[in-house]
Amino acid sequence: MKDMLVKPVQFLKRVGPKRVLLLQKINILTIGDLLYHFPREYLDRTGIIPAYTAAQGQLVTVAGRVLHAQELKPRQGLNIVKLAIDDGHSVFSAVWFNQKYAIKQYPPGTLVLVSGKAAKNYRGTTQIQVQECEAIDSLEQVCREKKMLPMYPLTEGISQKAMRQLVQNAIEQVQPLLEFIPRALLTKYRLPVWEEALNNIHSPKNNQSVHQARRRLVFEEFFLMQLTLAKRRQKMKRHQKKHKYQAQGQLVAALLNQLPFKPTSDQIKVWQEIQRDMNSAYPMNRLLQGDVGSGKTLISALMLVKAVAAGWQGALMAPTEILAEQHYTSLSLWFKQLGINCCVLTGSLKKNQREKILNDLRQGKIQVLIGTHALIQKGVDFQQLAAVVVDEQHRFGVKQRLALLDKGHWPDMLVMTATPIPRTLALTAYGDLDISVIESLPPGRQPVRTHQISHQSVHDLYRLISREAQQGRQSYLVCPLVAESAVLDVQNVVDLAAEVRGFAAEPANIFQGLNIGLLHGRLKVAEKEKVISQFHQGEIDVLVSTTVIEVGVDVPNATVMAIIDADRFGLAQLHQLRGRVGRGKHRSYCILVAAPKTNEAKQRLAAMVNTSDGFVLAEEDLRLRGPGDFLGTKQSGLPEFKIADIIKDRQALVCARQEATALVQKDPEFKQPEQQLLVPELQRRFVADKSLLN
Ligand code: ADP
Ligand code: MG
Repeated sequence: MKDMLVKPVQFLKRVGPKRVLLLQKINILTIGDLLYHFPREYLDRTGIIPAYTAAQGQLVTVAGRVLHAQELKPRQGLNIVKLAIDDGHSVFSAVWFNQKYAIKQYPPGTLVLVSGKAAKNYRGTTQIQVQECEAIDSLEQVCREKKMLPMYPLTEGISQKAMRQLVQNAIEQVQPLLEFIPRALLTKYRLPVWEEALNNIHSPKNNQSVHQARRRLVFEEFFLMQLTLAKRRQKMKRHQKKHKYQAQGQLVAALLNQLPFKPTSDQIKVWQEIQRDMNSAYPMNRLLQGDVGSGKTLISALMLVKAVAAGWQGALMAPTEILAEQHYTSLSLWFKQLGINCCVLTGSLKKNQREKILNDLRQGKIQVLIGTHALIQKGVDFQQLAAVVVDEQHRFGVKQRLALLDKGHWPDMLVMTATPIPRTLALTAYGDLDISVIESLPPGRQPVRTHQISHQSVHDLYRLISREAQQGRQSYLVCPLVAESAVLDVQNVVDLAAEVRGFAAEPANIFQGLNIGLLHGRLKVAEKEKVISQFHQGEIDVLVSTTVIEVGVDVPNATVMAIIDADRFGLAQLHQLRGRVGRGKHRSYCILVAAPKTNEAKQRLAAMVNTSDGFVLAEEDLRLRGPGDFLGTKQSGLPEFKIADIIKDRQALVCARQEATALVQKDPEFKQPEQQLLVPELQRRFVADKSLLN
C-alpha cells in the first residue's frame, strides 16, 4: 500500500480540518510524514522500581495505590495536583501541573502506573513529575504487557496519547509495505526490512529492537540522499552550461574598490577558485567553508556581481528571515553604488508586494533576489538565473539546494557554511561539491574570551554587561530552551526579559536606564525586524533572545554573548552563538552560565573555554558524542535527516555512499526490476528535480 504514503493526513480516522492545521505546524502533511515522525525518546515501562530508590532527575516508572489527593494554587494560572501513592516501600507523590482532571481520574484506591522525572523534596520524599499515568488492574498485567512507550515531539493541541494513536493508525493503513532497498544490501549490513523497522521504531519491544530499527532507517536516509547526489554527479558531467561571463568584470573591480577593508589572502584565494569555476564550461558546485565571521558574505557578493555584469541574474537563499533581511541590507548597500537592482523575498511579504517582485523577476528587472526558502516556491521564475548562493547550508537540505538550482538552467552554485564539519566528512556528505576553505579571520580580530560561571555568580555577568554598556557596547542574553514546547520556551524568554527590564527600571540598579530588547521566533516579522534594526542601530543595549540569533547576525558593536544554561546546547550551537561577538575591534566575551551535570556536558563547556577554533571543536564533538547513545538529540542539525546524524552515524554514511555510487554505475536509469520500487521513494523523500530520475 505504498501509495498511501503520499496521501494527505485527512485520509486517516480522527483527522479533521483542525488536526490537519495542527499537524501542518510540525511539517506533517502526509501519512508518510506521520510514519517518519519518530519518537524522541521512549518511556521504559518494563522496569518498575520502588520510588524511594529513584535518583534526582531520573526518568522512572513506579506503581502503587492512590491514598489521597491534594490540589494547590500557588499563583494565578498555576494549578498543581498531588496524589499520595503507596508503592509498598514508601509513600511518594505524583505531581501534575495544570491538569486538574487527574484528581477525578485517579480516586483513592486506584492502582496506577506512573512514569515521569523524579525529584526529592527537602524531606527526602520522592516526587514524580508525571509524564504518563494509567490506571491498571494488577501489577501482573503490566509485567505481561511490557511496553516501551514512544514519546513524540508534539505541538500545542495534540497530546502524546493522540499522537501515538495517529501514528498507529497510519501504520495500519500502509501495511503491507514492500521493501525498496535492494535485498542484497539488507543482508550485507544485516538490516531489518522496512515494515519491521517502522513498526519497531514506533512500538518497540525493547532497546535492542529500537537499535535495529534505527540502524535501518539511518542507512535508508543516507542511501536515498547519496543516490540523489550520485545521479546528479552523473548528469552534471554531461551538461555544458549555456551562460558565459566576461573574464574581467568592471563591476567586480568596482565592488572591490569600494570596500572599506582589504580582502584577506584567503578571501582572494577562494574568489579565484570561484572565478575559475564560473569561467569553465561546466556548472560550478562549490562548498565554501569558513568559520563564523571569516567574511563569506563578500565572496557571495562578488559572485553575484560577476553574474549581473554579464547580464544574468543571481539569487541568494538564507535560512531565516532575519538573515535574509540582513544580507539584503548589507548587499544592497554595496549594490546600490554599482546600479544593481536587488530585492528581498520572504514569506511575510504582502500579496501585492510579492506579485510585483515576481513580475519584475520574470522580466529581468530584478538582477539579484535575496530571500528565504520562499525563493524555491512555485511561481518564483527568473528570466535567466546563472548564479546561486545558499548561505548557512547546515539549515538547508540537499532537496532545497537542488530545488533552487532548478530555477535556472544548470546555474553555478556556491554553498556557504560555517558548520565546522571535518573536511573528510564534508566530502562524503556533500559528495557532489568541490570545497573551498577560508581559514583565517580578517585581521585585527581579538579572540573572544570565554568563561564558564555558575548561576550563583550571575551578578558578575550583569556587572560585565553593565560595564560594557557604559562604554557604548551591546550584549546578547540567550535564554535556554526549557521544553519541547515552543510556547513554554517563549514564556521563558519573555520572563527573563521582564526580569531584566525590572532591573533597568529600578533606581540604583546596575542596569538602570539600559534599553532591553526581546527577540524570539513567535514575534511578528515586522516586530522582529524592528528589534533587530534597533539592535543594529545601538538603540538596544541588551538583547534577550532565544537562539533565533544563532546564525549570521552581524552586529560588530556587540561584545558580550551570555548563554544561560549553556550545558543544554550542543557544541556546534554554542560555537555559532559565540560567533555573534568578536566581530569588531573591541574585546569580546562569551559567558557560559551553567551547572553541567553529566561528564559530557562538562567536557563540552571546557572545550568551549579552551578553544575558539571551529574545526577543533568539531573534532571534539565527534569524540565526545561517539557512537552509542542511539536516538540521542541530533546535533549536526541537517534538516533533511529525520533520524540520521552525519557525525554520529558517519560509518553508515560511508557505506551508504559506496553502495549508492555502485548502484548508479551499474544501473544508471534504475531500469532493473529491483530498482523500480526505489524510484517512488526517492521522489517522495529527496528528489525535488524530477528530471534527475529520467
Ligand atoms: P561570515 O563568514 O560569518 O558570513 P561576514 O561575511 O558576515 O562573515 O563578515 C563578518 C564581518 O567581517 C562583517 O562585518 C564584514 O564586513 C567584515 N569583513 C569581511 N571581510 C573583511 C576583511 N577582509 N577585513 C575586514 N573586515 C572584513
Ligand atoms: Mg554569514
